[in-house]
Amino acid sequence: MKLTEIVRGASSIGISGHIRPDGDCTGSAMALFLYLKKICKDADIHLFLESRQDTMTDMKYLSQIDTSYEWEGSFDVFFALDTAKDRLGKAEAYFDGAKKTVNIDHHVSNQNGCAQINYVEPKASSTSELIYELIKADDNPLPLKERMDADIALAVYIGMIHDTGVFQYSNTTGRTLADAAELITYGFDFPRIIEETFYQKTYIQSQILGRALLESIQFMDGRCIVSCIDRKTMDFYGVNPADLDGIANQLRNIKGVDCAVFLYQTGLMEYKISMRSNDRVDVSRIASYFGGGGHVRAAGCTMKGTFHDCINNLSLHIEKQIGAKHD
Ligand code: AMP
Ligand code: MN
Ligand code: MN
Repeated sequence: MKLTEIVRGASSIGISGHIRPDGDCTGSAMALFLYLKKICKDADIHLFLESRQDTMTDMKYLSQIDTSYEWEGSFDVFFALDTAKDRLGKAEAYFDGAKKTVNIDHHVSNQNGCAQINYVEPKASSTSELIYELIKADDNPLPLKERMDADIALAVYIGMIHDTGVFQYSNTTGRTLADAAELITYGFDFPRIIEETFYQKTYIQSQILGRALLESIQFMDGRCIVSCIDRKTMDFYGVNPADLDGIANQLRNIKGVDCAVFLYQTGLMEYKISMRSNDRVDVSRIASYFGGGGHVRAAGCTMKGTFHDCINNLSLHIEKQIGAKHD
């Protein structure tokens, strides 16, 4: 796949990622947006993402993200990043109306891609890593030094650190680390970026994390842990879903835990589920069964019913996998 070839002759290009965008989604979309602006100077290029009170403020061009989805018309080329078409939210209509569609993703649950042109690589740490590899391998008359810059490098780096937990999770590969080594040579304050976009939490984010840990319940002899934050509690602390990022990861850190499940209420009898596992459980398989997806060690879905309905249904699947490994 060559980016220059894909966008050749296009006068309008759209880019989007999944609903409730995370660091990789925002980072990969921003990196592609800035890159295409460099190589297609005459094209009208739009980047659509849901707005989030986020920690991405180091990205200079954040204000160029269209969060209103009011643009009318159809795109010559449309890129869906870090998801299949089903989680594009309002941008799904742009995808459906585009002349040429492209899907770049690393979710194992997105099996064959959803577009006319697909680049789905589950072994990649992040969609941002794939974007950087595509930029390097692009067939463009401009030399790489002129096509890349510190803003693109920063966007890719943010995506990588968020999806790998700062190069900690098992999706980190030699290629990820080699790419990161190249990226920091473009010159940005990476220790501060890691601190401010990944580790730092606001006071309410820390309080809600504390609450989730305090109210967590262990089951299956401590091999599973679950915690749930309901709407009333979210309203009490004044938090939105983005403030709950990282809670599932914290639950997985607890010694002896094979599988961590974090739920938050999204509606009356509706919950968003985040699952994290260590080496025993394939949570992508479980999330896919319930209509969601993700990666082997981190996956999610949305479920209907009470908290107890959700956890009873999930635990049957978790138990099956943990049990199978013990036989
Ligand atoms: P989360 O638990 O929301 O942080 O998501 C963990 C991983 O699973 C991320 O890579 C998400 O993009 C992915 N994921 C979460 N929910 C879904 C879903 N409903 N469908 C497909 N992938 C999902
Ligand atoms: Mn993502
Ligand atoms: Mn990702």
